[in-house]
Amino acid sequence: MPKSSHNPFRNAQAHVDRACATLNLSDSARQLLRWPMREYRALLPVRMDDGRTRVFSAYRVQYNHARGPTKGGLRWHPNETMDTVRALACWMTWKTAIADLPLGGGKGGITCNPKEFSVDERERVSRAYVRAFAEVLAVDRDVPAPDVNTTPQIMAWMLDEYETVTGRHHPGMITGKPLQVGGSQGRHDATSYGGMCIIREIDSLLGLDLAGARYAVQGFGNVGGGIARLLHEHGGRVIAISAEDGGICNERGVDIPAALEFYTRNGHRLGGFPGGEPFSNEDLLTCECDVLIPAALEHVLTRQNAERVRARVVVELANGPTTPGADHVLQHRGVTVVPDILANSGGVTVSYFEQVQNTYNYYWSLPDVHAQLDTRITHAFHSMWNLAQERGLSLRDAAYVLAVQRVAEACRARGWF
Ligand code: NAD
Repeated sequence: MPKSSHNPFRNAQAHVDRACATLNLSDSARQLLRWPMREYRALLPVRMDDGRTRVFSAYRVQYNHARGPTKGGLRWHPNETMDTVRALACWMTWKTAIADLPLGGGKGGITCNPKEFSVDERERVSRAYVRAFAEVLAVDRDVPAPDVNTTPQIMAWMLDEYETVTGRHHPGMITGKPLQVGGSQGRHDATSYGGMCIIREIDSLLGLDLAGARYAVQGFGNVGGGIARLLHEHGGRVIAISAEDGGICNERGVDIPAALEFYTRNGHRLGGFPGGEPFSNEDLLTCECDVLIPAALEHVLTRQNAERVRARVVVELANGPTTPGADHVLQHRGVTVVPDILANSGGVTVSYFEQVQNTYNYYWSLPDVHAQLDTRITHAFHSMWNLAQERGLSLRDAAYVLAVQRVAEACRARGWF
């Protein structure tokens, strides 16, 4: 494994180590909690449209299943490695625990650039992944969901392949599905909706007026685009947005519905959107705003640029956007950071609701989903906030202490240590 401070798995382990030390856990407990319990790797040979076969590396990591079946998304990205998947599976373990869901943590990925694929190629890659890992996926074992570059349509192909292989209906083996094949109302924007509940709570605790505050959002996909839309609908001023190809800023507030339409029409790009000044991703992170929302990829806030962050609050809707070095700088400078494992737990919470509905074969209304999500995530937020106040911890340390303690208690109850 590379020693770089930007290895996301090393950084994920550093948070676990700190929580284990705070909780005074034994060495054996620490050993178990800082590594995945099971890892799988496969090569996927896929016939492309031009008749050639390409071979893709694929991964599935089941980090810890003490609290229930492992759960976590599938990422398709050119930079995907076993270490990024391990880190994401590790974060999922603490995320399901802090959200108090009866689930463990897992994650999967394929090293590929899906932007090069035709629709048919996407489908063949989806089906190849499920054939490779069907043995280790199941509603009571390990349940995938969407993540970066994967969509409800991909979940539907994967479900279909799994049900073809097993010869039975198992809608709960994967979540984030389209409504027509057992998806849940509210799953598509669940991470953003949960993030909105968190922003409401933190704004109120810090004396910020949700509608009057200025927001900057990095990433304009499912999560970033969703939170920008919700903030806009609640009267918040979103002054900067960006996607992979760069962004735009507008002090008066970006017209978010127009930007979303432009992004969708222009192949998921914001370049050329006429509603503001062109702006780089780096400028976005250090622009003057009240709330900065990284909602793209990991490790965008580093020790170097953290010195220049001018937001009062960072709400991490991406997984792992802040390096430990940046965390240290932000804490020292008095910037409040709401950690990813809590801030973006709305997605997995509604994935859990989806599984519950699949099991009962009875489906909830959107207001029911939103009400249940709001209750759960708000409760989790205040548990973390109160522990941080009582023990003088950062919000991240408080979140990890709560989550690691819950997983450790389940391991102990099972007699694992
Ligand atoms: P997505 O693929 O829908 O969108 C990703 C966005 O990030 C796109 O707008 C893309 O242009 C942008 N982007 C990519 N590289 C970038 C870069 N270098 N700089 C700036 N922007 C860049 O993915 P998503 O589902 O919105 O996921 C975003 C983040 O949220 C990820 O960290 C993911 O793990 C996390 N997350 C997603 C969910 C979910 O339910 N989808 C749940 C929890 C956490």
